[in-house]
Amino acid sequence: MDLNITVLPGDGIGPEVTAEAVKVICFVAEKFDHQLRIRELAFGGTALDRFGEPLPEATLSACLSSRAVLLGAVGGPKYDKVARGHKPEDGLLALRKALGGYANLRPVKVFDELVGASPLKPETVRGCDFIIVRELLGGLYYGTPRGQEGSAGSPWRAYNTMSYTVDEIERIARVAFDLARKRRRKLTSVDKANVLETSELWRSVVNRVSHDYPQVELEHVLVDSCAMQLIQNPRRFDVILTENLFGDILSDEASVLAGSIGMLSSASIGGKIGLYEPVHGSAPDIVGSGKANPLGAIESAALAFRYSFGLEQEARLVETGISQALARGIRTADLSAGHYAVTSEIGSAVCDAMAGCHEYT
Ligand code: NAD
Repeated sequence: MDLNITVLPGDGIGPEVTAEAVKVICFVAEKFDHQLRIRELAFGGTALDRFGEPLPEATLSACLSSRAVLLGAVGGPKYDKVARGHKPEDGLLALRKALGGYANLRPVKVFDELVGASPLKPETVRGCDFIIVRELLGGLYYGTPRGQEGSAGSPWRAYNTMSYTVDEIERIARVAFDLARKRRRKLTSVDKANVLETSELWRSVVNRVSHDYPQVELEHVLVDSCAMQLIQNPRRFDVILTENLFGDILSDEASVLAGSIGMLSSASIGGKIGLYEPVHGSAPDIVGSGKANPLGAIESAALAFRYSFGLEQEARLVETGISQALARGIRTADLSAGHYAVTSEIGSAVCDAMAGCHEYT
């Protein structure tokens, strides 16, 4: 198969983690005899420095002509004072919109080898395996009107708009129900329906869609209660469906279960081109130290095989490689109190583990 992938390393630790994911992609392409076409382009702060904008036309058009985009991370303190609309994060929001993936899947899986890496009790996190389905193109991040009025010394206010249409809710709900149907058939829809009108609509649309999925058990949980239950009893969850802002916050919280935010991957699907990125940011505090964990980026590559190319065997091989590398004792700095492997060793460790894998389907 022709694997046409655009890689956007981005800023901070982005280039370090995507380099490891690319090693893994190359290994898998060779093993299964796929034709690999990878193009790497500037994005985020790096693009702002070089071309004066976070999402240059050449970067966007390369992304739009590929089947999958693998992104590292964007942003950093250097860009804090850049005007709104031109920040690296604005480039990311624009890219997400252009690619059209409205369903952001964020799997949270606790590997047996890493139960001790979480600050929570081992018996609380052992066996956790759920997926957060976050709506990605609506809600507060995109709603209008938005802005600021006035200035210091005079009446000054800022405002954002949380808005959802029935169609936006219905399409993301169907993604979540379809996933739940193939998993443990339990869907938790998270909202704030006791306060927000958007959540009231969210709840009623999800209830309506649920009639098409009688085999899936549906529950509604308020976002504040969900935040608590995620650390109190996370194993109760299978698929969590929620809107943009709530999903952003809950998935960072959920990363604590997995031992480190560096472990979490994501796939943004539903549009023409899939976007795959680890959940973490550019981690300016550890850039260049060899302490960045690239496993979330590598798992994001597995998701690209699964969702953009329909290559389930290849995806499972990568996932088995990650778990075998951990079983062999490979640990990144964020997961180890003692000796650790540096970032540039991890991709090869996963490739070595994959080379020894014979059962992964
Ligand atoms: P962050 O995720 O970059 O870092 C939070 C903490 O987690 C830091 O202590 C960092 O060292 C650690 N961490 C993150 N990724 C890690 C990894 N792979 N391995 C080991 N440790 C890791 O979040 P932040 O500090 O709030 O944000 C830093 C910058 O990143 C900001 O400019 C922010 O806007 C941006 N950001 C970008 C994205 C994205 O590109 N999708 C997401 C979140 C934040």
